[in-house]
Amino acid sequence: MSNNQVQPIFILPEDTKRTTGKDAQRNNIAAAKAVAQAVRTTLGPKGMDKMIVDSVGNVVVTNDGVTILKEMQIEHPAAKMVVEVAKTQEDAIGDGTTTAVILAGELLKRAEELLDQNIHPTVIAKGYHLAEIEAQKVLQEIASRGITDNLLKNIAITAMTGKGAEVNKEKLAGIIIQAVKTVQHGQHIDLADIKVERQIGNSSASELIAGMVIDKERVHPTMPSAVTSARIALLDCSLEIKNTEIDAKIQITDPTQLSLFLDQEEKTLRLMVEKILQAGATVVFCQRGIDDLAQHFLSKAGILAVRRVKKSDLEKLSRATAAKIVSSWKELSPADLGFAGMVQEKKIDAQEMLFIEQCQNPKAVTLLVKGGTEHVAEEIKRAIADALGDVAAVIREGTAVGGAGAVEMELAQNLRKYAHTLVGREQLAVQAFAEAMEIIPRTLAENAGLDPIDCLTQLRSAHEQHQIWAGIDVFSGKTMDAWKEGVIEPLKIKTQALRSATEVAEMILRIDDVILGSPADKKMLEMEL
Ligand code: ADP
Ligand code: MG
Repeated sequence: MSNNQVQPIFILPEDTKRTTGKDAQRNNIAAAKAVAQAVRTTLGPKGMDKMIVDSVGNVVVTNDGVTILKEMQIEHPAAKMVVEVAKTQEDAIGDGTTTAVILAGELLKRAEELLDQNIHPTVIAKGYHLAEIEAQKVLQEIASRGITDNLLKNIAITAMTGKGAEVNKEKLAGIIIQAVKTVQHGQHIDLADIKVERQIGNSSASELIAGMVIDKERVHPTMPSAVTSARIALLDCSLEIKNTEIDAKIQITDPTQLSLFLDQEEKTLRLMVEKILQAGATVVFCQRGIDDLAQHFLSKAGILAVRRVKKSDLEKLSRATAAKIVSSWKELSPADLGFAGMVQEKKIDAQEMLFIEQCQNPKAVTLLVKGGTEHVAEEIKRAIADALGDVAAVIREGTAVGGAGAVEMELAQNLRKYAHTLVGREQLAVQAFAEAMEIIPRTLAENAGLDPIDCLTQLRSAHEQHQIWAGIDVFSGKTMDAWKEGVIEPLKIKTQALRSATEVAEMILRIDDVILGSPADKKMLEMEL
């Protein structure tokens, strides 16, 4: 008897789904392309919006790449990797998320064509790697250096073009730049110091507040609703007696004991309020609860108190008013207090909000964004977030490039030349990478209802004549000098988008085996049902 008969060997659980080789690759590429396809119509000033309705009926109307992809709840593993590209872009700058995803999709689409010609995926990955290095080099060479106020304004306006913020972009650009400059010290800018709060109202009434707006009201209506020259205390303890962590039980056997106990409690609460008064505070923000009796004492003392303030808001208040956050009311001293020229409650769409304004040299500020409806205000807020990220990126790095497809076309041109210096099959991959760059001007043209072939031909010839910032005028379809027209973007958007897009393309290309464990498998099946 021979033992040579081949027995199948099972190394994976029975219900594991597995695809290998070409199938795995094609499948992943298709998924990645589908993600890019989902956002491509939103690119640029003439891009369309998407309406996404979640399972509980919440509606989001947006033009913002990363928001769309987050809301879509994408399940496919390779598609998720592409969504990560958008998230990385969002975290690094804020703007350019659609660009990054479209580039990733196009790189993979071009790679697929090379796979069809039997070029090995690792060769393509290697070529893409080389092309990216060269592209980053070119970007550094062509980027413009130096920051002027006018440049910052153009950067902010370009970021908002085509978003809900369009109508008031001049004014918004002004307050965005002012906000960034207020929280900036040197090259360091922490955008967390700029709070963007939205409100329903006339969008031309959007404003920058030298301080904070928080979504809270005073804890008791007998407290003053406005305090001028406010001395502000920030407490991250509670102004209550009970200690919920210990949760002690008190056994009281006769009535005198009870009143003694209550007296003691009242005394402590009185002491708390006295301590606050002694420190000289006139406004108190408390991260936790405030006892009813303490509220009463505070109100009698004419103090405006707010409870259950979010920790993040407390931190911003600290940076805006220069108050220290104190962990125990016993330790509160005058030196811990901050200042605001005005603290007042204002009613905004039937909701009380607290304005902490007129702070001196605030290190944190609030941009109050108004829009006609909640959806509009929310979309303007997203456009402003992109613009804030762009202005900050340019101040940090001092480099900018021409938009409207100019920088991508210039890269394509340079990469085509670079490809000729290479030998072997990598040359084809670099060429494919170069062609892939043209997806940005092509999509801008398509989304504007222009003829992409005409536009790209004109654009290529302009770049051949060394007009490095030649881009597409999406309104006339002609070629324009993007820089002169003020369509300018931070270099960082492009370096980041290229890096993440190339990385994900290389990664997806190198996968030839997809093993789906059973839990994920079941979930996918449920999704299909
Ligand atoms: P992203 O999420 O990638 O930022 P956008 O929808 O904001 O996507 O579109 C950005 C693209 O639109 C960039 O390529 C930018 O250069 C281009 N763009 C912005 N303003 C203009 C303009 N006025 N004319 C032509 N292109 C523009
Ligand atoms: Mg943008």
